[in-house]
Amino acid sequence: MDTSATRLSPPEQPRDFGFFVDGQIIPAGEREVFERHSPAHDVPVTRLPKCTTNDLDSAVKAARTAFSDRRWSGLSGADRAAVLLKAAEGIRARLEEIAYWEVLESGKPISQVRGEVGGCVGMFEYAAGLARSLHGDSFNNLGDGMFGIMTREPIGVVGIITPWNFPFLILCERVPYVLASGNSIVAKPSEFTSASTVILGEILTEAGLPDGVYNVVTGTGPTVGQAMAEHMDVDMLSFTGSTRTGRAIVAAAGASNFKKLGLELGGKNPQIVFADADLEDAADGVAFGIGFNGGQCCVSGARLIVEAAIADEFAQMVTEKMSRISVGDPLDESTQIGAITTDAQNTTIMGYIAKGQEEGAELVLGGDALDMGRGQFIAPTIFKNVDASMAIAREEIFGPVLAVMPFETLDEAIEIANDTEYGLAASVWTKNIDKALTVTRRVQAGRFWVNTTLAGGPELPIGASSNLAGAGKLGQWALKNILK
Ligand code: NDP
Repeated sequence: MDTSATRLSPPEQPRDFGFFVDGQIIPAGEREVFERHSPAHDVPVTRLPKCTTNDLDSAVKAARTAFSDRRWSGLSGADRAAVLLKAAEGIRARLEEIAYWEVLESGKPISQVRGEVGGCVGMFEYAAGLARSLHGDSFNNLGDGMFGIMTREPIGVVGIITPWNFPFLILCERVPYVLASGNSIVAKPSEFTSASTVILGEILTEAGLPDGVYNVVTGTGPTVGQAMAEHMDVDMLSFTGSTRTGRAIVAAAGASNFKKLGLELGGKNPQIVFADADLEDAADGVAFGIGFNGGQCCVSGARLIVEAAIADEFAQMVTEKMSRISVGDPLDESTQIGAITTDAQNTTIMGYIAKGQEEGAELVLGGDALDMGRGQFIAPTIFKNVDASMAIAREEIFGPVLAVMPFETLDEAIEIANDTEYGLAASVWTKNIDKALTVTRRVQAGRFWVNTTLAGGPELPIGASSNLAGAGKLGQWALKNILK
């Protein structure tokens, strides 16, 4: 579908999607249907089956059969790479279609989704290279009588549970790598944003992926998702979502087959700004770091920890930039922040904004729900005079709400940054290499950005301690998307 030339609007009728098992789209049939309303337009946009645990069992069975008969796991890395490269082409060809349905289900801006889907093409291409270079290790230091060999074998059936904030991106941060290494997949997208996960099934089949290697069950988390975590025949589970559900997943894995887990959960990430930073760049980065995806991002820079000497001046710069972010219809090419994706999330964010005011923080920007005539939108919001004990400083809000906290010394900056139960990501802005290196080593975070934020590429691991020094450029590539 080429939608780039026309002004986009929501569909007249919601589109029916099926779920995807053994290479086939399966329509809802007698099953209940989940009708998704666009959070930006208040009209029904997609309809998907509410799969049952029996459907999950069928999908796991298809994935197990495909794995056991080695129709994919037995291929050479070169053959797998060829399919992944074709899939990359398929995503590129259907980029506009994927972006359109993703915008409608998620409420995120079309320009942003295009960037995300384009990034997914790169992940498939990169994974294709990895498929050809995966190898084991050998041990020839055991004495003359012994020689050790370590091979890397696929684990089997991998479950992938994804959230609603980056439905296609988070999926594609996992699928091509899981496939590159020879595994089979059962994916369970969020019930709010399932369309693109099903479309990927069609793309993979057209690219030559054998039937049964990639399967999708649609449905609710507490039924299908929970059953997947408990399933005795799922060997590994990748889960991205809330810390609360992550705990349930760990418990379910322990109570079933001790499946291997990959978890990406919550964050309350610091943006540490020193007085010697390029303040213009840093203010762009801070505004982008909390504004991107309306702050519905596990690595959002939600806490601005800024050197006291420049705190007022810098907060003013960020306020000015955030006040210029255009919030509105996500199908509009110029929109930078779209709708809040779920009703529950909207309530949560507004609740935190009220709590921040009750607890005595100073609201310097936003704080309101924006009336666009339809949909749910929240203005970019900044609180100053935030105390580390306040809920808005401690808890993940997952919205466009920035908490500003000043510091006097480098040690104090590190202490405030580490005063959190999370340790997901962090950014530091300074021109002083000693400060940058000290902060990246002492602040506990799995992902660290220096003089940039929310930047990266398929070559970098996520969740491992991956540090990226932006030197302005990478960060600015991202920033241009949101701050003209
Ligand atoms: P959840 O953790 O409930 O949802 C994430 C995924 O898990 C969805 O696919 C969901 O399915 C599924 N799920 C829900 N319950 C279970 C379960 N018992 N077993 C297995 N899978 C399950 O997040 P919420 O949507 O409730 O969001 C709440 C908060 O979580 C947000 O405010 C934010 O703080 C955080 N969050 C973090 C994300 C991240 O990227 N790290 C992403 C999303 C949320 P379904 O949606 O169909 O119920």
